Amino acid sequence: MRRLYVVLGDQLDLESVLDEAFDPAQDALWMAESEEEARRTWSHKARIVYFIAAMRHFREALRQRGMPLHYRQADYATESSSLAALLAADIQRLKPQQVVLMRPGDWHVRETLRAAIEACAAACIEREDPHFMTTPEQFADWAQGRKSLRMEYFYRELRRKHALLIDADGQPEGGRWNFDADNRAAFGADGPGWVPEPETFEPDAITREVIAEIEAHYADHPGSTAHFDWPVTRDQALQALEDFVDQRLASFGHFQDAMWLGQPYLYHSRLSAALNLHLLNPREVIEAALASPARHQSLAAVEGFVRQILGWREYVRGLYWLRMPGWLEENSLQAEQPLPSFYWNGETDMACLADALGQTLKFGYAHHIQRLMVTGLYALLLGVRPHEVHAWYHAVYVDAVEWVELPNTLGMSQFVDGGVLASKPYVASGAYISRMSNACRECRFDPRLAEGESACPITTLYWDFLDRHQARFENHPRMRMQLRNLARKDVSERQRIRAQAQQLRDSV
Ligand code: FAD
Repeated sequence: MRRLYVVLGDQLDLESVLDEAFDPAQDALWMAESEEEARRTWSHKARIVYFIAAMRHFREALRQRGMPLHYRQADYATESSSLAALLAADIQRLKPQQVVLMRPGDWHVRETLRAAIEACAAACIEREDPHFMTTPEQFADWAQGRKSLRMEYFYRELRRKHALLIDADGQPEGGRWNFDADNRAAFGADGPGWVPEPETFEPDAITREVIAEIEAHYADHPGSTAHFDWPVTRDQALQALEDFVDQRLASFGHFQDAMWLGQPYLYHSRLSAALNLHLLNPREVIEAALASPARHQSLAAVEGFVRQILGWREYVRGLYWLRMPGWLEENSLQAEQPLPSFYWNGETDMACLADALGQTLKFGYAHHIQRLMVTGLYALLLGVRPHEVHAWYHAVYVDAVEWVELPNTLGMSQFVDGGVLASKPYVASGAYISRMSNACRECRFDPRLAEGESACPITTLYWDFLDRHQARFENHPRMRMQLRNLARKDVSERQRIRAQAQQLRDSV
């Protein structure tokens, strides 16, 4: 054999995996379901189902096209093997002269696969992943020499470079680069009213078989597969994209940060997993948004959506490759608490957390503000060990792949890097949750109170966080207001809050 082309479970797009040199007479594709990968993080069952079901559908598509493929299906009867061990065994067996690897999305996977290929004395050709709009090298060039890195400036460069939402005179469409200020609305007392249901996908025979396998072999893993309705093929992903753009995009921006109990999806796209597995390409997602009538109904919505894909998604990936593996070791706030066990079962009296955790375990999904300002916020305020928070986020979401999960969790949500990704910690009291959702109305805790039986634990921990980290942030211009409010509390009140926060920590 001349070349073996590795296709990882999150690289399911033939056009990007193959290069012009691919010759089916001499080359072949290689895919493997690695049990160790599923167990390396204690994955939600729906997350494992998503990956395996999408891979098996992709295998079918390759077979129908008559592509030469070596596919290793999970063999539950034997010892679980790592991806690297499976690849090494097949390199020994097939003896390719070269192994073509498209840059894996996970630092550890990349290291171990490259080492395995080298150990087998095969030549490794690594290709850049064309599914992204920037390469890690381009990002590193952009970052070089900058005192601080901010997504906004990176995003503006990409807007200019790709001429997206740019007027003929080179200015941002609508006169502004950023419509963030228009995109923070809450639903108000009556709630969201009718929201178009997202398109869902009934599991077919292939997916049903995968669900049965996962239920049998990963019975002790968290989460449910009973509600699995994600797009697992390219056609389904395109349908989901069209549905989002037609039905929900126009309201996406305005209600981007809003939450409502029992409404997991609201105006969000549910496209992250399809994007991360390469069933969709970010360029086509952006093009679909720009071509939609929503652009004329609400430029703020369309710009807000483009900013998530072109801005945040590319930015966190660039930072991931710039900062790995060191990011994993950082802990700027010296957080040393264990993750509360209710993160794994949703059993808590806090209505906002119970709702976000409940839907996470049910569907493998929570939208951004739930991840950042509910589950992430609580872990940050409590002071949970960053690697436990990272392990949890990596496990429980169907879209969790490390290059995007890790920067969001460790950088944006837990501030482990002391301000590289986020300029300040995302901290808020229960008042924020009360403003952005109806959770506090249904909760036994009062978001206004930091002390006493009815005090909202988030509010208690918020003041305690400011108190504990006051010295560190006192000169931070964007935290001045929060610290000024803390200073209004007298010494004895601060002591009582500290004691109540400690009780919360002790009860974990
Ligand atoms: P929408 O709200 O519809 O947004 C549209 C798209 O924009 C998303 O599909 C996604 O591709 C992209 N996007 C939005 N926000 C971000 C962001 N902050 N970083 C990168 N891309 C973004 N996203 C993942 O894809 N995988 C993860 O494992 C993941 N872990 C996260 C962990 C934490 C602690 C936080 C705060 C965020 C995380 N995100 C992750 C980012 C974001 O929350 C999800 O992309 C989003 O909630 C997915 O739902 P959606 O497709 O409906 O997104």
